[in-house]
Amino acid sequence: MKLQNSIRVLKVLKIFQFCFLVVLPTMPETQIEEQVSLKLLVNKKTNKVILAEAGKDFVDVLFSFLTMPLGTIARLVQKSDLGPVGVGCLGSLYGSVTNLHECLRTVTCKEMLLQPGNSSEEYCRSVKLNIDDTESSKHFLCTNFPVCSHYLLSTFKNERCDCGNHLAHLVSVKSDKVYNGFVNDVATFIVTDDLVVIPNAMDTSFGVLKKVGVKSLSSVQEMTVNVTKKKVLDLLKYSLLSKSTLTDLFLVKKPLLSNSQFSPSIIENNSTIQIKVKVVMRKSDGKVMFAQGEEEFADFLFSFLTFPLGGVVRMLGGYSSIGSIDGLYNSIVGLDENKYLIAKEVKNRLIDPGLAPQLKLGMQMFPINEQASQYHCYFQRRGYPNSIRFSVTKGHRSYDSKVEICKVLKLVDLKSSGGNLKGYAKGPAMFMATDDLVVERMSPTSGVSLLNRLKTPIKDVEEKVVTIGIKEGLNILKASLTSTSALTNGLSHLLLLPEVMEQKWYH
Ligand SMILES: [Zn+2]
Repeated sequence: MKLQNSIRVLKVLKIFQFCFLVVLPTMPETQIEEQVSLKLLVNKKTNKVILAEAGKDFVDVLFSFLTMPLGTIARLVQKSDLGPVGVGCLGSLYGSVTNLHECLRTVTCKEMLLQPGNSSEEYCRSVKLNIDDTESSKHFLCTNFPVCSHYLLSTFKNERCDCGNHLAHLVSVKSDKVYNGFVNDVATFIVTDDLVVIPNAMDTSFGVLKKVGVKSLSSVQEMTVNVTKKKVLDLLKYSLLSKSTLTDLFLVKKPLLSNSQFSPSIIENNSTIQIKVKVVMRKSDGKVMFAQGEEEFADFLFSFLTFPLGGVVRMLGGYSSIGSIDGLYNSIVGLDENKYLIAKEVKNRLIDPGLAPQLKLGMQMFPINEQASQYHCYFQRRGYPNSIRFSVTKGHRSYDSKVEICKVLKLVDLKSSGGNLKGYAKGPAMFMATDDLVVERMSPTSGVSLLNRLKTPIKDVEEKVVTIGIKEGLNILKASLTSTSALTNGLSHLLLLPEVMEQKWYH
């Protein structure tokens, strides 16, 4: 009996040995997941986060959200498994570009919208818990470079050089800077539940406690949580949907998410670009079924995906009503950039982020520009043999003019078959957009079949031609991020029917 047992033990040991020898070495190395710890002060009575004490790593993550183009945000929030509520109409707009096959001018157009560049990508990549999975920008020179002396560069492959060749010669671009996120290494901050970021000072935490009505410290509990990349994905989504982001992220099991209440912005802005659309609406409740317009209308909506979040808030005057984003945005406006940010220019990148290079449309209604970026090429002079004939730097590096020649490279304007990049959508064509911004090419029957699907009788339908100028444009943009009725809400001031006298907001 004893012998049998020992034999059994030996057999088991053999199996163990086998496992360790054979199986373990082939198992993938378990990756140590990056995480950042965060100290929370929680109100025990209300079960709400009062504030978080955060260092660089967490605040860098929050700040990076403002640099992300809406197309990237649309893709990232889809990955978060927080249930079906999306961020306004962002998901359906992004999804409709994914499904458009023949209607975009070039393959590049689709790439620009689905993988829009981030004009602060180097900053974001150096953030410890970076969640942006967009491929890094690539850079292409003329295939005839350096013989070709047009010195053009493109971040998209196969654009045409002025010499007629393609810009298809991939180069690696060095940077003149070392990037390390956005905020100073040693700075610490207080982050409130609705993402107001305040530099840590002696009186701030007591001030915040008082402000949220905490009278006795016995109701305050300290708690430490770990933030992983997966948690950051959820943080992004909550920040866009909730006014109590940290509570929802760390304390509530299943928060009730909903889009914010839409309220129109008061906008004074001049833009000469206007787009005519025909709106098909339901008389009984004033709701827009769909709007139809030419390719400029589709471009107008598609361009949303290229706008960085911070740029959207800036265009809306700091009042976007998107989740907790306004608090975050406005706290950076008031931040001392010399003290708390790694460089002075970083503040502007956050509160006025530009489009990534080459993304600006020829006809852009919105007041947003490309982030200026300069590229230089350094050539080795004759007689100074070097294995590298030339190198490209983003920005400018110091060089010895006896040994090298420096030339400025110019980013080429994106061209489509018809000349300058007039837009993304191929025309002439009619496009239709539903109230929640599903955009598709219009066929003679698509309007009818949509009305059928929405079970709306013809006699309840009214058509109206409206003009979208900057005021309507910004209202549609805002409504697209805070409601699922972008057109009804964004155009409400133009659409009121006699039967629907009282204003109605749709969420
Ligand atoms: Zn060339």
